Amino acid sequence: MALIDNQQYLSPVWARYTDILAERGEGACLYDADGRGYLDFTCGIGVTNTGHCHPRVVAAIREQAGLLLHGQANIVYHRPMLELVEALREVVDPALDRFFFSNSGAEAVEAAIKLARQATGRTDVVVFGGGFHGRTAGAMALTSSKGKYRGGYAPLPSGVHIAPFAYCYQCAVARAAGKDTAAMSQAAPNTAGCCGEPLRQLRHMLQTETVPEDIAAILVEPVQGEGGYIVPPASFIQGLRAICDQYGILLIADEVQTGFGRTGTFFAMEHFGVTPDIMIMAKGLASGLPLSGIAARQEIMAKWHPGSHGGTYGGNALACAAAVATIRAIQEEHLVENAAKLGALLKAELAGAQRRRRAIGDVRGLGMMIGVELIDADGNPDAALCKRVLSSCRERGLLLLNCGSYDNVVRFIPPLVADEGQVRQAARIFEETVAR
Ligand code: PLP
Repeated sequence: MALIDNQQYLSPVWARYTDILAERGEGACLYDADGRGYLDFTCGIGVTNTGHCHPRVVAAIREQAGLLLHGQANIVYHRPMLELVEALREVVDPALDRFFFSNSGAEAVEAAIKLARQATGRTDVVVFGGGFHGRTAGAMALTSSKGKYRGGYAPLPSGVHIAPFAYCYQCAVARAAGKDTAAMSQAAPNTAGCCGEPLRQLRHMLQTETVPEDIAAILVEPVQGEGGYIVPPASFIQGLRAICDQYGILLIADEVQTGFGRTGTFFAMEHFGVTPDIMIMAKGLASGLPLSGIAARQEIMAKWHPGSHGGTYGGNALACAAAVATIRAIQEEHLVENAAKLGALLKAELAGAQRRRRAIGDVRGLGMMIGVELIDADGNPDAALCKRVLSSCRERGLLLLNCGSYDNVVRFIPPLVADEGQVRQAARIFEETVAR
């Protein structure tokens, strides 16, 4: 039996994009067991921001593995976690100077909500349509990017209110007013002429469906990820901050996918000039080792009852060592700047393709987080085309993922170490594939 045949014993719950047996990774490339290379613009769903097996990260893991694998956070302090808070304090908004660590994005989301509840003494949470926050029971109840993430899992935890996100390209109000919604979307967060409708609807929700005094937190992805790589206008995120300030609600930024240089700033909230009360991080934090965390204002963290939350592995020594090396690599190799510069190049190349190919309805994004929305002749989401494009790109050695509630958005999440040649190559393969 060939090794790959063992895949039949894996649960079918893992929906699969490819049958590639990945043997090794280096920089922006993955190599299969036959030595075939792929340009990996999936980044393991936005994780390997420093590229596959960054030598500095690998060396840090090797060194730490020989010293201490597991120093449980309730029992001891360990050097990598203390070094990590030092490194994070250099890159996270200085207002958020208390940290808690866990293993996955969903776990950190749960932690943020639990903290918000104890800190405010309130029960409910506002989230946004199309949002994705993970797959644990609590995180699933906060997620509405696709029905399949919730279907068959009822009952879900209650106390969640879903408000509309500011999705410029599909904005019915702007379309009815005859505005070029693709141009609005592409300019985001510097969108001119935003109608402000999502904020109006949120205020209406707080007036009718619930009361602000019940809301512990508003949880938002600064750029929606699974929901379709949607950049909202700055006025939207700033409006959320104003609502939170007005009613004593905590603003939680889910930076799981947008963090660690992905959008051309260290964290995406910087694009909006807004400081959240709690920030959630994971994915790019440790270059592939399981690590997540939250950062919060000191006065909020002080209200979290000791012992009321925790976990065996959170802030694992090996993962923390990888995270310190990751942050140092991002800083010293100027990867945030690279994401801004080459992300702009990639977006410009894809926008050029949009002008030439009718099937490309919208190109949007920040830094190296770019979504390309594919549409049919009537302007409706074209999931079938998206599927064909991903599969043809893969045959030509380019790995891409989709996203969006209708599976019609191609997402480009290259590693931040990608070079100009790789970015141009990916854009060219993509356009040729769409053209075919
Ligand atoms: N939040 C966001 C914005 C995400 O994109 C994801 C995963 O894609 C999560 C939370 C959940 O992270 P994890 O899969 O590590 O639980």
